[in-house]
Amino acid sequence: MEKDNKDTWFGNLAVDYQEKTSLVHDLFKRVAGHYDLMNNLMSLGIHHVWKRQLVKLINPKPNEIMADVAGGTGDISFRLLSYCGGEKNLQEFGGQILVCDLTLEMLQQGRHRSFNKGIVQGIEWIESNAEHLPFKNNSLDIYMIVFGLRNVGNITQALKEAHRILKPGGRFFCLEFSKIIYPEFAPLYQFYSDYIIPKLGSLIAQDKPAYQYLTDSIKHFPDQQTLAHLIQENKFSQIRIRNFSAGIAALHTAWKV
Ligand code: SAM
Repeated sequence: MEKDNKDTWFGNLAVDYQEKTSLVHDLFKRVAGHYDLMNNLMSLGIHHVWKRQLVKLINPKPNEIMADVAGGTGDISFRLLSYCGGEKNLQEFGGQILVCDLTLEMLQQGRHRSFNKGIVQGIEWIESNAEHLPFKNNSLDIYMIVFGLRNVGNITQALKEAHRILKPGGRFFCLEFSKIIYPEFAPLYQFYSDYIIPKLGSLIAQDKPAYQYLTDSIKHFPDQQTLAHLIQENKFSQIRIRNFSAGIAALHTAWKV
């Protein structure tokens, strides 16, 4: 597939960075109301296992300042807060959990979930683009982006921004769909993502294009090694890759030194 002289992809469509950001924003605005339900159905609940593993690896402390970039409805942030012992603990030790997302409607769903859980101040919800975050240089302990980087217009710019806002000694985590590492498993996965996911999207969310985008965007996203190089090129150190479920998803971790 040719990209012509465009910057990137929106699904299978070659587009410029800004165009992608605007299309992605429209898509998540549309799916915000059923995002959590669809997430559970499409991943058959496996994303909970991956996210549990991620939070354990992050091992956040209640005095740390953490950004959950492209944090959507706050799935990871709720887990971080609970791991840190709840909002009182966070306040006492001076930590902060900041959910940053491009799409206001996703953040609104998150805020709603937050109130339902009785969380009032533990999490801050910030409408912002991963390419230009409203934080000072060297100000955060932890940066995470979970199923978000694939959706960002200019990935390199987002990585530069992650490096800028982290303190020296700060940690970077990116969990994203990736490339299957066992070839014998690939056809089954391909069938699932090419046929089942768009069907579920059309049956449950009545939005087949949105879920077709999901599968197409995974195909265009850099594989494990390519992403690791990109992270390294953007000044991070000690990059490590962990494959989850045979590479359906991969976690990249790195340090700012
Ligand atoms: N991290 C959440 C999770 O794991 O459930 C949400 C992931 S959802 C697949 C992707 C999110 O990325 C959406 O909420 C979307 O609005 C957000 N997003 C897309 N492009 C973005 C950007 N350039 N900056 C910040 N957020 C972005």
